[in-house]
Amino acid sequence: MSKILEVNDLKMYFSYKKNFIGQTTQTLKAVDGVSLYIDEGEILGLVGESGCGKTTTGRSIVRLLNPTDGNIIFLGDDITHKNKKELQSIYKNIQLIFQDPYASLNPRKKVGKAIMEVLKVHGENDKNKQIEKTKELFSMVGLNDQAMEKYPHEFSGGQRQRVIIARALAVSPKLIICDEPVSALDVSIQAQIINLLIELRDKLGLSYLFISHDLRVIQYISDRVSVMYLGKIVEEATTEALFSNPLHPYTMVLLSSVNGQHKEQPLLPGEVPSPVNPPSGCSFRTRCPFAMDICAQETPELLNQNKNHKVACHLYTKENNE
Ligand code: SF4
Repeated sequence: MSKILEVNDLKMYFSYKKNFIGQTTQTLKAVDGVSLYIDEGEILGLVGESGCGKTTTGRSIVRLLNPTDGNIIFLGDDITHKNKKELQSIYKNIQLIFQDPYASLNPRKKVGKAIMEVLKVHGENDKNKQIEKTKELFSMVGLNDQAMEKYPHEFSGGQRQRVIIARALAVSPKLIICDEPVSALDVSIQAQIINLLIELRDKLGLSYLFISHDLRVIQYISDRVSVMYLGKIVEEATTEALFSNPLHPYTMVLLSSVNGQHKEQPLLPGEVPSPVNPPSGCSFRTRCPFAMDICAQETPELLNQNKNHKVACHLYTKENNE
């Protein structure tokens, strides 16, 4: 299987003045050395608590943000430093779906017209063909032809997300970055949208980077999962391996909360440290029940435990097990 996306050591730092006279500059390390890949037709889940850097990772990959360091290879092409004009042809192949579909639609434009305009921008000038293609896209996402004549506010949240998916499909993308696409929806509607995304992946051979804080959603949709904490990937595995045998203490706590344990106690002890001033060594050490001396001194690398599983934790490095 060939890789559709490869991200190597991606860093996204934001600098800002600490005080109002601008004397001290601080650096917020929102994404701090993330590497990941997605194979053709694969769904990679990216999971972590709010503020861990997963959304910034997604936005950096599509170059809505200019990464501080690292590189992004899409379909074999290094897109890290491409300019706006060069990125236009990339955006035909990568699309984004956000959490709030209402904010992504023009409230004064009928949704059918909005999609026809996308088709026009990408070279389809024949109006009849635009209409036919829009009907086809709507049918693909479970909407009828009458939906074309409606404004965004006339849809339910789930239907609006279907419109957004149809618009993303209008350019026949190869990769879709889905950033919390179902978080704002009722649970029953969430399942419908997730099943639709899986169905479209199977039918069209799409790949997804699926970003979510919700482990149950991630487990359901993903082929592989990367777990993120404070700007770094701390564990990466096939979905089966991660959920049956989590290795990183952070993943263990996240999973135990989903499985109904820890009901009487806080999910994790302590506060999430600031990405401006993260702990030395392992950034999880201030909350980790297994922290050792070395955890404050050395940052653990993301290393293979076996073919399907990588973890960044000193508990699994040879010298700490001897
Ligand atoms: Fe805990 Fe140390 Fe592993 Fe970090 S490296 S997760 S502090 S045991």
